[in-house]
Amino acid sequence: MSLIRIHEVGPRDGLQAEQAVVPTEKKLDWIRRVAGSGVDIVQVGSFVRGDKLPQMGDTDELFRILMKESHRAVLSGLVLNEKGLERALEVGVPLVCMGVSASETHSRKNTGMGTEEATGRIIAMALEAESSGRHVQVSVQSAFGCGFEGAISEDRVMSIVVAYLEAGLTNISLADTAGHAYPEQVRRYVRKVLELESGTEITAHIHNTYGLGMASVYAAMEAGAMAIETSFGGLGGCPFTRMAAGNVATEDLVHGLQRAGMRRDIDLDALIAVSREVAGHMGRELPGSVYRTGPIPDKVKA
Ligand code: ZN
Repeated sequence: MSLIRIHEVGPRDGLQAEQAVVPTEKKLDWIRRVAGSGVDIVQVGSFVRGDKLPQMGDTDELFRILMKESHRAVLSGLVLNEKGLERALEVGVPLVCMGVSASETHSRKNTGMGTEEATGRIIAMALEAESSGRHVQVSVQSAFGCGFEGAISEDRVMSIVVAYLEAGLTNISLADTAGHAYPEQVRRYVRKVLELESGTEITAHIHNTYGLGMASVYAAMEAGAMAIETSFGGLGGCPFTRMAAGNVATEDLVHGLQRAGMRRDIDLDALIAVSREVAGHMGRELPGSVYRTGPIPDKVKA
């Protein structure tokens, strides 16, 4: 658990859920600072159509600028279809993320395709990105339940994981799009994937819709997940799902890890400063805790 990696998805999962479009300059500033804080990966944006999701309309431009600079963190981008992959490859995204929803309804709403067809297409895209020399992360969305369908069978989820593993794709994110995950379930799924293939690099992407976010994140880490996707201030929510809340807040998780002596290499103050600015920009309080409270001081004054 001491090596747990942090994948900051606030610029994508967080900002895509906002009504207002954040100016590119602001995004660049936040991304640069988070990418310099010591977190491992920062998700810059998603390659969707700008007319469909204007909040993500500047993803190509962001990458064009950021790829000319050097950053401590690896930059990732989310692609949803072949056109998006083409754009991601063109701007040189180092880590390409893509996924399939285990929920038939969510998959159809999101992509117009059922889960089975989408799995085949995503695997083909992932292999294409790999053969172009990119790192790839594949995900199972709605892995722990769905806002439209409710429970999703474990077998359905694992069959997608098996398809990924059989294709040689071993960097796999289990995404709790709707926030239905609970710790025992997360622990069981992570262990199951590791039983299928012990070297699998599992990431957990958990939303805090029902207040179980942080507990599920700890369950994932203790069961052997290697990375957690979090967002600054706990911002976020999929615009294509019902009842979506934010991810677990990056600074809350980093604070928790550092209390236990882990990930002291990350500049928590820098993360807190960014989340405070994001909250200021949005003009409201965000769901995260530590950006408001600050870290627990080493010595509490009497
Ligand atoms: Zn999400």
